[in-house]
Amino acid sequence: MARKIGSRYTAHQILGRGSAGTVWLGDGPEGPVAIKLLREDLASDQELVGRFVQERTALLGLDHPRVVGVRDLVVDGTDLALVMDLVRGTDLRTRLDRERRLAPEAAVAIAADVADGLAAAHAAGVVHRDVKPENILLDMEGPLGPGGAHPALLTDFGVAKLIDTPRRTRATKIIGTPDYLAPEIVEGLPPRAAVDIYALATVLYELLAGFTPFGGGHPGAVLRRHVTETVVPLPGIPEELWQLLVQCLAKAPASRLRASELSARLRDQLPLLAGMPPLDVDEPGTEDEEAAYPAYDEPQALSADEPRRRGAVPLVPGSAPDSNRDTHTSMRVPAPDELAGGARGTARAPRAAGQRRPGSARNKPDAVRRRRLVLGGAAVLVAAAIGVGGWLAATGEGQEPAPQDTEQSAPSQP
Ligand code: ADP
Repeated sequence: MARKIGSRYTAHQILGRGSAGTVWLGDGPEGPVAIKLLREDLASDQELVGRFVQERTALLGLDHPRVVGVRDLVVDGTDLALVMDLVRGTDLRTRLDRERRLAPEAAVAIAADVADGLAAAHAAGVVHRDVKPENILLDMEGPLGPGGAHPALLTDFGVAKLIDTPRRTRATKIIGTPDYLAPEIVEGLPPRAAVDIYALATVLYELLAGFTPFGGGHPGAVLRRHVTETVVPLPGIPEELWQLLVQCLAKAPASRLRASELSARLRDQLPLLAGMPPLDVDEPGTEDEEAAYPAYDEPQALSADEPRRRGAVPLVPGSAPDSNRDTHTSMRVPAPDELAGGARGTARAPRAAGQRRPGSARNKPDAVRRRRLVLGGAAVLVAAAIGVGGWLAATGEGQEPAPQDTEQSAPSQP
């Protein structure tokens, strides 16, 4: 089903849907393109259309091999579209969903590519504001790099800024995806280049660990963690790489590296990481997590066999996740007392690599052992009762009701 976009482009088929609109495979005078058709409610917002046109020069001027180029902006009736270079491949979220964790060499190569793209954007005065795996495309037609990684390109430049009109996001609202939001944004400061570095470091952490450092549960809880919590070390991560992550996840924006420096430092690490397997990191959402986040992740909200995914946990049983990876356009900045953590706060002290989270059941060997002993004892008694019952039945004796051994010895829940 072909659809005309302006006078020069035709959209043929949907490549993917995002929070701001739908991306189509299309063609134009210079060949195949990707066309991002903005959502109708955005396209009908006159203020946004004006801003869209204003941003034209900055967006069209960003020309770098690690940035998905915007070729044209089309305002046509009710259509508002960004015409982009077509990247034949997949986005990083899809790869991460498939592989869960990447080998450090591939993860670092991808992050270095993105840092290169950011360096070019920042030099041109453009801040991305929504760096996340969904906005990193992997060019499957490009040459394989270190760790077998395809070249990575950053896309969606300017989209967060477009959506961030004063009417849409009053002073108390923030734009961005909770898991990747720098603490200064949560505190209401204007987003500068360092927010992209924080988000990219979060992405790199996620590629290595399989989860983001501060994600999980209600968006408000995620925002608070960005401001108050310290990043938890990843077991087995080479020290230099860890130090880079820590520096770029610093709460103070000025302490973070600049994009060009980050890219160079990441590339320096590549030879040391060659051949290293993915890190062996505890999966979040295990017994540990349930013990550690009772205030945010209502355990009864998920059935026992339902996979728990950080950043997408429904608070109401059976409801859709209330925290996802879409760009939130109506998030409230938490008040200072909320940021500091109330009675239900979970501010976590930093842990050494491999150390369990506080509250972990695995930190309580006595409790666990006691529980196992009680359950084990109950099982023996149940088996004994069945055995005795069976023997009595077989011998025809014991017509009286059997003693209620099993009930009396039923384990009390520890
Ligand atoms: P989001 O809003 O979640 O960032 P997008 O709207 O940017 O997502 O993109 C949705 C999907 O469309 C992407 O996941 C990707 O698969 C595809 N896509 C986006 N841009 C391009 C492009 N330039 N070339 C090819 N595919 C693209």
